[in-house]
Amino acid sequence: MFQSPDFPTLSSEIIASTATDVQRALERTRLQLHDLAALLSPAAEPYLQQMAAKSADITLKRFGKTTQLYAPIYLSNYCTNRCVYCGFSADNLIKRKCLTLEEAEKEAGILLDRGFQHILLVSGEAESAVDVEYMEAVALRLRNKFAAVSIEIQPMSTEHYRRLFEAGITAVAVYQETYDRDLYKHVHPSGKKSDYDYRLEAPARVAQAGMREVGIGALLGLADWRAEGLAIGHHLNWLRREFWSTAFTVSFPRMRPAAGEFEPLQLVSERNLSQLIFALRLFDQDVGLIVSTRAEERYRDGMLGLGPTRYSAGSCTAPGGYSESDYEGEQFSVGDHRSLDEVCTMIRNKGFDPVCKDWDREFQINN
Ligand code: SF4
Repeated sequence: MFQSPDFPTLSSEIIASTATDVQRALERTRLQLHDLAALLSPAAEPYLQQMAAKSADITLKRFGKTTQLYAPIYLSNYCTNRCVYCGFSADNLIKRKCLTLEEAEKEAGILLDRGFQHILLVSGEAESAVDVEYMEAVALRLRNKFAAVSIEIQPMSTEHYRRLFEAGITAVAVYQETYDRDLYKHVHPSGKKSDYDYRLEAPARVAQAGMREVGIGALLGLADWRAEGLAIGHHLNWLRREFWSTAFTVSFPRMRPAAGEFEPLQLVSERNLSQLIFALRLFDQDVGLIVSTRAEERYRDGMLGLGPTRYSAGSCTAPGGYSESDYEGEQFSVGDHRSLDEVCTMIRNKGFDPVCKDWDREFQINN
């Protein structure tokens, strides 16, 4: 199983990197983990433009002028965990709701009408509301409507992931939130999520279950973002070695205002976020890089073509938020409020192609 490196050691390795290490990393075609450490370091900051140019070049060669688009559907905001940074924490007095199968189908129908072909089903972690049977039932209702249905819910067993794959789920995202084991305990004080290792091993269980794509990531604003980036690199490296036929993505959720008045523990600027994205693109040329509507409109527009390969659009983070105009209980407020059409127009105006469908369920059936 993957052993997450000691977090303070990762920070020290990064800080020790010099300008020479950065220049050497920029000259290489195939980067090692020590090159990633160099690109994440303060010593790489003067080289950000070079990193951006190289990242854009690799992204163009590997992904063409395409940007994939998707939208989340929040199924439930019930949660038994007490993550100190999240609006859905069990301690927060928000309006709770779990969609019925009919309500989930209605939300999906709205997104389908708007042109989405790829949806991400999201929920809080409360098995009493959302368990494998519920997810299976939702997937079976939606599988024939969409080209790809991904999930971001509580970590499950390999067997349960297998069941969901059979029901039509094609991808699973399980973010570690932070790879800093000590901080992890502090920000996940109780509930099933307080088990660091069970969560860390979830991406491998997803891949073992045969899912097409696995998403990993860390929540930016909790621990040292540079060390989180290097920890993601270690995790990705290990996953690629063990599961060579699985596709991988990395997300970069930067903390947003949420219920519970939690303030980020670390400031991560847009410049920092860009350095992280460019460094990971240079390190892993094929990984999908996702920038959701947590990021501001201006930032997402500026990053187009420079490294990211997938954007969410027209997102609502409350269960039932697409059907109801007076919804409550958002997980966080979004930074880009544009519709799918508006985001597509922006992408086309910049000379890129918006892609709502890059997969078909038929591939899954015939494999
Ligand atoms: S981050 Fe996930 S597990 Fe934690 S409180 Fe929010 S919804 Fe629940």
